[in-house]
Amino acid sequence: MPTLLFFYSFILLFINMCMKIGVIAIQGNVQEHIDALSRVLSDAGVDADVVSIKHAGIIPDCSALVIPGGESTTLSRLMGREGMIVEMQDASRRGIPIMGTCAGLVLLAKRGAGDVQKTGQQLLGLMDIEVNRNAFGRQVDSFEADIVIPAIGDEPFNAVFIRAPEIVSCGDGVEVLAKVGERVVAARQGNLLALSFHPELTGDMRLHRYFLDMVKGKLSLI
Ligand code: GLN
Repeated sequence: MPTLLFFYSFILLFINMCMKIGVIAIQGNVQEHIDALSRVLSDAGVDADVVSIKHAGIIPDCSALVIPGGESTTLSRLMGREGMIVEMQDASRRGIPIMGTCAGLVLLAKRGAGDVQKTGQQLLGLMDIEVNRNAFGRQVDSFEADIVIPAIGDEPFNAVFIRAPEIVSCGDGVEVLAKVGERVVAARQGNLLALSFHPELTGDMRLHRYFLDMVKGKLSLI
């Protein structure tokens, strides 16, 4: 038995040593996500590389992935051109945790409403949600709101919304994590975490820590 435990710890240590978290780096707040992830990893004492992804070939080696905000139409076009959409879909099939923030949330969705339907942009089609982009208005309508996200604790999270999308409807397997009024702005489905706002723009690391817990949960299943 002790030998088995030793062997198991060794494997976990080995996985930790090799762990790579990738941030899609085509557009948007890439560095802010890299900084936030590096900080929570270091706080947790987890040795992992956070890498930016500009082309195909890196996603298959990642233990977790982040799609930042930006412009979902451009992101999806460039990711498709670089062959990254198929790689992301494959990673999700393997249960790799993926966090999509703002435009990243739009890309995670299976269905588009409103503006997303109009532009006919390609979605990754992973999460059982229907999304509308720019649902809270234009750049000038950007706002901050203190929202309650019970999954990360009682203290409200100061969320920054910039031309934010809304989750219009969710399938049965989707857990709603937060709302603004009646509108869903954060949700999780298994390995997928979708946020309408920008957690990387605040000093509050709780959502990145929550994501890291999803990653650690996945690793412990190996
Ligand atoms: N409105 C943008 C879109 O739908 C997202 C904005 C953002 O990521 N800050 O692509």
